[in-house]
Amino acid sequence: TPVFVTGASGFIARHIVLQLLQKGHVVRGSVRSEAKAAHVRTTMEKELGDPLDEDRLSFALLDLKDDAGWADALAGTGVLIHTASPFPMTMPKDEDDLIRPAVDGTLRALEAAQSAGVNRVVMTSSVVAVVYQNPMPDHALMTEANWSDPESPACHAYAKSKTLAERAAWKYVKVHPEIELTVINPGFVMGPPLDDDFGTSMDFVKRVLGGKDPVVPRLKLDIVDVRDIARMHVAALSKPETVGERLIGVSDQMWLRQFADCLRGAYPDRRIARREAPDWVFRALGIFDKAIAGIVPALGKDVGSSGSKARAMLGMDFIPAEQAVQ
Ligand code: NDP
Repeated sequence: TPVFVTGASGFIARHIVLQLLQKGHVVRGSVRSEAKAAHVRTTMEKELGDPLDEDRLSFALLDLKDDAGWADALAGTGVLIHTASPFPMTMPKDEDDLIRPAVDGTLRALEAAQSAGVNRVVMTSSVVAVVYQNPMPDHALMTEANWSDPESPACHAYAKSKTLAERAAWKYVKVHPEIELTVINPGFVMGPPLDDDFGTSMDFVKRVLGGKDPVVPRLKLDIVDVRDIARMHVAALSKPETVGERLIGVSDQMWLRQFADCLRGAYPDRRIARREAPDWVFRALGIFDKAIAGIVPALGKDVGSSGSKARAMLGMDFIPAEQAVQ
C-alpha cells in the first residue's frame, strides 16, 4: 500500500522516504513547494541510482497552517507517516507560531487520514514531549510513561508545540479508535543529511563547529542517528504490537562537552570549545540561550530518555552516539 509522508523535505523524512522506497513501497510526500518536491526526487534518484517516476514517488503541496488540499491528498494511500512540524533553531516571540501549526497540522493530517480511510498512522513526536517535568529533577532516566508538562518553566515553545501536538493525536484516536497510532519520540537527531539541505539538527552542529562560543554549557543531550529514527518509523508499520504505544528513539546520552569532543575528533582543524562553563555563566549572560531556545532550565540537569522499549519492541540496535555525531 502507498505510504503518505508529511514534510517529505525534512532531514528525518528524507531518510524515511528513502528507506520506504528501498523496501519497494510507493511513496506520496507532502511538501510546501514544487521546488522542494523536485529536490527530494533528485536526492532519492541519486541515492537509489534509479530514475523515479510518479508511480513510485509523488507529491502533494500542503501546509500545516492551511486546509487547502488535505481532503484529497491521502486518497489511495494506506498509511500515514506524519513528520511535518515547525522545528526552528530560535524560538519565535509568539509561541503560537509553533504551537498552532504543530497542533492544527496534526489534526489536519489525522482528519485527512480518517476521511481517506487510512487507519494506520505513525507520528514523529520528540523526547521534548517526555522530559520536561515540573519541577525538573536533577537526575532521571525518563521513559515513555513520562510526559512533559507544558506548564513547566523548562518547557519552551518548541517543547510545548510537540507535547500539545502529541496529546492532540492521542485524544483524536480515542474518539476515532479505528485509527491505529504509533508515536516515535526521537532524541536529538544526528547523522548524515541526505543532501545539502541540513535542517535545524545540523544547524546546531554548525554552531558548535563554528568556534564562536568560547565555552560550552553543561547540557545533557539524548543522541540518536537519523537512520535509526527512519528505521523506527518504517519498522513500526509491520509491528501491530506498537499500536497505541510511544517509542523513544535514543541511543545514548552525551554532555555537550563530549559532543564537542566528538566533533573535534571528526574536524580536527576547527576551533571547537573544550571547556565547560559553570551554569551561572549561561544563566547570567544568556549566551547560547538567545541562539538556542530555552536551555537555561535544563542546565546541569543529568536527565535523559531511555531507548530500552524500542530495543525490545522494534529490535533496535542503535548506532552508537559517538558514531551518530561524527
Ligand atoms: P526539518 O526542519 O528538516 O523538517 C521539518 C519538516 O516539517 C520540513 O519538511 C518542513 O517543511 C515541515 N514543515 C514545517 N512547517 C511546516 C508547515 N507550516 N507546513 C508544512 N510543512 C511544514 O526537521 P527534522 O527533520 O529534524 O524534523 C522532522 C520531525 O522530527 C519534526 O516533527 C520534529 O519536531 C521531529 N523531531 C526532530 C528532532 C531532531 O533532533 N531533528 C528530534 C525530535 C523530533 P519545509 O522543508 O518546507 O521547511
